[in-house]
Amino acid sequence: MLKPLMQESFILNAESQIMGSSALPHQPDSDKNVAMFRFLVMALFLFFTACSGPADVHETRFIMGTLVEFTVIDDDRDRAESAIAAAAVEMQRIEDAFTIYGDRPNAVKAFNTVAPDTPVELPDEVSQLLILALKVKQQSGGAFDPALGELNLLWGFSGDDAPSSPPPVQAIEDAIPPAHCIEHQGRQWIRTDRRCLLDFGAIAKGYAIDRGIAVLRQHGIRNALINGGGDIRLIGSHGKRPWHIGIRHPRKKGEVIERLDLQGDVSIVTSGDYERFFMYQGKRYHHLINPKTGWPATKVQSATVIASSATLADAWSTALFVQGVDGIKMQQEMNQKALLVDDQGKVYGSLVKSQ
Ligand code: ADP
Ligand code: MG
Repeated sequence: MLKPLMQESFILNAESQIMGSSALPHQPDSDKNVAMFRFLVMALFLFFTACSGPADVHETRFIMGTLVEFTVIDDDRDRAESAIAAAAVEMQRIEDAFTIYGDRPNAVKAFNTVAPDTPVELPDEVSQLLILALKVKQQSGGAFDPALGELNLLWGFSGDDAPSSPPPVQAIEDAIPPAHCIEHQGRQWIRTDRRCLLDFGAIAKGYAIDRGIAVLRQHGIRNALINGGGDIRLIGSHGKRPWHIGIRHPRKKGEVIERLDLQGDVSIVTSGDYERFFMYQGKRYHHLINPKTGWPATKVQSATVIASSATLADAWSTALFVQGVDGIKMQQEMNQKALLVDDQGKVYGSLVKSQ
């Protein structure tokens, strides 16, 4: 739901135009002339195609509760458009497979509704992402926890009605999951405690973006950017220049705290407290929960991570938000870049220099 990253250059949507043969005079005097005419048409077509340059295709879809922006630079506009359509279908498939909201059944919801200690077989894809999520949980010392579902449902930030006050203290206490409550043997998973509900909200969007980029590549696309409300993966370049990315200031809308020129294959994700929050008795309550206290994490306004995939950048930006400034060292050790704004507005780390 965040919009912490702004692609300042995306507003431009220069369309390439190919002039068609209808602009040419019709002179079919003889077979020879017809052949010459056809040759000229083809030559002019190729000339104008070469002049027009690659198409810069920009499309927006509503997926995973947020506006997902696709930008593709490609010589073939039709290919770019069908690649985007296929990527959007894939991302919607992932939302359907991982969401814990809505009425349509999926394996994650099934896991969350069966009684504790009942084995549930999760599809390979869900199993794999859960294994990765549990690894981030372990590495982050529990700052990131995919078993937070009960708490997240209680706070209600992702529900239909935005909350306006915190839940009762006792209800929060009762929803905090134990440190270890999810186990598996192969694809058979169990939760050992009723307070453990899976919630992929902090990692599935990044995963969907990785899958979206994979589908674009399968269609032959080499230069593209997908922005899922602040979760970004980009490949190649934006025409003759790099992709311009700005990291949004967490408190001053329209201002950026760092500008980046990126190209190649970069995943960059921000978690912030400024899109899904409410103010109650002068205090801000937001959707990034400290799994140990059950309350929104304090001391940070936004955390941005660059990692080798959008999946990892998504998980780690949430983890870093909860860890706070102390977590930056871990990002250095993992060779990831991180930028953090603390509750006083002080900026730590850098996405430009290797730290
Ligand atoms: P956004 O979805 O706004 O881009 P995040 O990627 O940081 O932000 O994910 C936030 C979502 O992740 C929450 O809505 C909730 O579903 C879940 N979540 C909140 N706190 C945590 C946490 N500490 N660990 C794992 N998931 C969390
Ligand atoms: Mg995240």
